Amino acid sequence: MAGEASTSRRKRQRVPSIGENGGGDAVARSGTLFELDLLDCPVCCHALTIPIFQCDNGHIACSSCCSKLRNKCPSCALPIGNYRSRIMERVVEAVIVPCPNAKHGCTEKFSYGKELVHEKECRFALCYCPAPNCNYSGVYKGLYRHYYANHHDTWNEFGCGNSIGAWLRISDKILVLQEYRDGPLVAVQCFKEREGVYVTVNCIAPSATGVGEFSYELSYRTPMGGSDTLTYKSEEMNRIQKVSFQTPEKGFMLVPHYFLGEWSTLKMEICIRKLKKEEQQDEADDEADEEEDGEEEEDDDDEEDDDDEEE
Ligand SMILES: [Zn+2]
Ligand SMILES: [Zn+2]
Ligand SMILES: [Zn+2]
Ligand SMILES: [Zn+2]
Repeated sequence: MAGEASTSRRKRQRVPSIGENGGGDAVARSGTLFELDLLDCPVCCHALTIPIFQCDNGHIACSSCCSKLRNKCPSCALPIGNYRSRIMERVVEAVIVPCPNAKHGCTEKFSYGKELVHEKECRFALCYCPAPNCNYSGVYKGLYRHYYANHHDTWNEFGCGNSIGAWLRISDKILVLQEYRDGPLVAVQCFKEREGVYVTVNCIAPSATGVGEFSYELSYRTPMGGSDTLTYKSEEMNRIQKVSFQTPEKGFMLVPHYFLGEWSTLKMEICIRKLKKEEQQDEADDEADEEEDGEEEEDDDDEEDDDDEEE
């Protein structure tokens, strides 16, 4: 295996160790692989996953590339797709990489490629402050505390199960609600379009289990004295890590112009409910909380070796 024997016990972020879970040998040998790109399909550049195929000349490709290329090797035109590259499959399985959010506190490790699946539901994924002109980002708990400390407004506090007024000035485009004290943030946004105003409700949270799982009911009564009411219910509030000001294609309540009249403020009511009792995951969260203040960084997910951060 291309690599370098390492006697140092220090591990570097984003550098995998080989053989940590390999074979179950009592004494597993390990090394360092510097070019993780070797483990990506040379055709599509995605992480190689089993099965991996090779042509008679030893060129490799992932299974989806083999079928796209109609089993013709892109390097030498020999057939590819009949023979597996067993050794490459073993290597890919034996290389263990940390979660891309390791620098934010996640301690999970995965065989190469699987960390990207986990990343989508990692509770340490960065969330961004929804306040205008604020560049803070951090793990969700840190963000909630940051928001409470810096942007909190008692008027915009919600308690689960209680109906509250959500008055959103259309020109503001966003209203951020925060659960009592330093709880989760809910962004109520509006988008003025030709047919009317689209209203969305999203929780700012990673898509991890037990975090920011709410249902909600939103209602709007026309201010023109009528009794017409629009309501929108969602069994599961969408979770986002960062607010977007792009008009949504689904998951919104449409307030048509004739319902708005001359009003520049949407006077809505919202009732937010917890989907289930939030699980106690405080051990994991506490670690994250400690780092919260130093967390104003961009999520540049490049391959640099930022070792020596601690220790
Ligand atoms: Zn491929
Ligand atoms: Zn070939
Ligand atoms: Zn993670
Ligand atoms: Zn902020």
